Amino acid sequence: MMQTPLNLFNLFDYSQKMYRDKWIVTRTPDGIHRYQYSEFGNRVRRLSGALRTLGVQPGDRVGTLAWNDFRHLEIYFAVPLMGAVLHTINLRLSTDHIRYIVNHAGDRVLFVDESLLPLLEPIRDQLPSVEHVIVLGTTPEPNQSPIQPADAYEDLLRRAAPLDDYDPDWPENSPLGMCYTSATTGNPKGVVYSHRGIFLHSMAMGLANTSALSESDTVMPIVPMFHANAWGLPFAAVWFGSNIVLPGPAPTPGDLVQLMADERVTVAAGVPTVWLGVANVLERQPVRLSLRMALCGGSAAPPALIRTFEDRFGVPFAHAYGMTETSPLATFSRLKSTLADRTEDERLAIRATQGLLVPGLFMRLVRDGEDVPWDGESMGELWLRGPWIADEYYHDARTRDSFEDGWLKTGDVATINPDGYVRLVDRTKDLVKSGGEWISSVDLENALMAHPAVFEAAVVGVPHPKWDERPLAFVVPKDGQSVGKEELLAHLAQTFPKWWLPDDVIILPEIPKTSVGKFMKRALREQYRDHLTK
Ligand code: ADP
Repeated sequence: MMQTPLNLFNLFDYSQKMYRDKWIVTRTPDGIHRYQYSEFGNRVRRLSGALRTLGVQPGDRVGTLAWNDFRHLEIYFAVPLMGAVLHTINLRLSTDHIRYIVNHAGDRVLFVDESLLPLLEPIRDQLPSVEHVIVLGTTPEPNQSPIQPADAYEDLLRRAAPLDDYDPDWPENSPLGMCYTSATTGNPKGVVYSHRGIFLHSMAMGLANTSALSESDTVMPIVPMFHANAWGLPFAAVWFGSNIVLPGPAPTPGDLVQLMADERVTVAAGVPTVWLGVANVLERQPVRLSLRMALCGGSAAPPALIRTFEDRFGVPFAHAYGMTETSPLATFSRLKSTLADRTEDERLAIRATQGLLVPGLFMRLVRDGEDVPWDGESMGELWLRGPWIADEYYHDARTRDSFEDGWLKTGDVATINPDGYVRLVDRTKDLVKSGGEWISSVDLENALMAHPAVFEAAVVGVPHPKWDERPLAFVVPKDGQSVGKEELLAHLAQTFPKWWLPDDVIILPEIPKTSVGKFMKRALREQYRDHLTK
C-alpha cells in the first residue's frame, strides 16, 4: 500500500475540494459573522503567507490567546499547514502561568484577541521569544495598546499573498500543535500533538461508535479552542464538511441556547457545568432544539443531567472521557445493542459511565503495578496507549511520573466491567481516603445532583483526626429553592452506606470553577481544611 502521510494537508485539501459551500458562523460582539468554507480556505492560505513573510519557520511555535471564533479557526489551520506549531493558550490561567507557558514553548508569534490584550500587557516585556504580537480583530488604532509591535490581523491578511505551496507530503510525525494542561499543582505541563495523531483522532470522531460527526451536522464546540483543541472538533468538523457554529467571547447559557436554536445546531460539546447552565435556561424558557447530541465530557456527567436532557428536552445526551494528553477523546459512552433489553434505570447507569474505549486505543487497569480484573468492581488506575495518546510532556522531568513502558498513567481511578464499560471512580487526588477505605467523591456528587432542589454539588476530602480524611459536601440550591443538610444526608442514605455520608453539608451560592469550568476542588479543600479538626 502507499505510504501517504496522515497530515493536516490531507484534511484541509479534501475539505476545500468537497465542501466549499458549507458555513462557518461566529457570534461576535458586533453580531453574527458568517462565511463559507471557500472563503475560509482563502483566508487560511493568506494567513500562512503572512506568517511566512514574518519569518515563521517550520517547527516554530505560534501562540493564540483567543475565543472560539472564525479567526481562531483560521489560525488552527494556517499555522500547521505551513509547518509551524499551533500553541493554544488557556486564557483563564493566571498571568504567571501564561508567562511560564509562552516562555516554555518559546512562542515566536502570538495572536491575541483584542479583548484579551490586558492579559498580555503586564507581562509583554517578560516574553523574550515573542517577536510579533498580532491583534485579532479589525484595525485597532495604532499605538492604542502599549504592546509593540502590534499588528492587526485583518491588515496582515489584506497585505499577504496566499501561500499555494503547502507540502502534501509533510511528515506525519512532525508536531502540529501543543497545549498545556491546567495543572492543579506546579506549572502546567505541555503536550505536543503530531499531524498523525490529529488525523487519526479526527477520524475517530467520525465513527458511528463515537460521535458519528458528518457533513450533515452543524457542530458547535462550546468547549474552548484553548482547551484540548476543543476536543478535536475544529479539525474533524472541517474535514468532514460539517457546518460550524462558534460561540465567540464568553457566551452565557442564554447566548448558547439562542445560537443552538437559530443555527439549528445538531452537535454541541461542553463540560457538565455548561450543560447545567443550559438546562437552567431551558427549564425557564423552553425552546425547540435540533440537537441530535449534547456531547458532555471533562468531568463526570451526572445521571440526573442526562435524564433531564433526554426526558424533559428531548435531546440525546452523550458522555465521553479524555484528557489533554489523549487529544482528548479516549472513551465514549453508547449503549451496546446487546444491552438494549436492560431496564431504563440500568440503561441510564450504563450510559452515565465514561463508556467504551474508542477504537484504535488500548487500556489497562493497574493497581500496585498489577493488572486488576475487569469485573466492574476492582479499582485501579486507568492506563492508555495509542496513536493519539501523548508519550511525554514537552521538555519536562515530570514525564517520568506519568509514562511507563509505553503507557500513559492517567491519574484517574476506574473500574471496567466485563462488557468493557469504564467507570471513573475519581481522580487519584480527589478520592476521599477514609480510614484506609476509598470513597468516590464523584458518586456522592452525582447522587446530590439528582436531588430535585440541587443545582450543583461538589464533595472533597478534608483532614479528620480519627479517619485521616472525611468527605465534606458543598451544595448550590436551584434558583428560588432551599434545601438543608439533614434532608440531603437522608437522600444520600438511601444509596450509600453510613460511612460514606459527608460529615457536613455546606450550602454555597456557587462552587468555584477551574479555568475550564470544572469544580475547583482544590480551593474548597484549602478553604475548609480545618473544618473537621477545629
Ligand atoms: P485539566 O487538568 O485542565 O482538567 P484535562 O481537561 O486534560 O485537564 O482534564 C482531564 C481530566 O478530566 C481527566 O483525567 C479526568 O480526571 C477528568 N475527566 C475528563 N472527562 C471526564 C468524564 N467524562 N468523567 C469524569 N472525569 C472526566
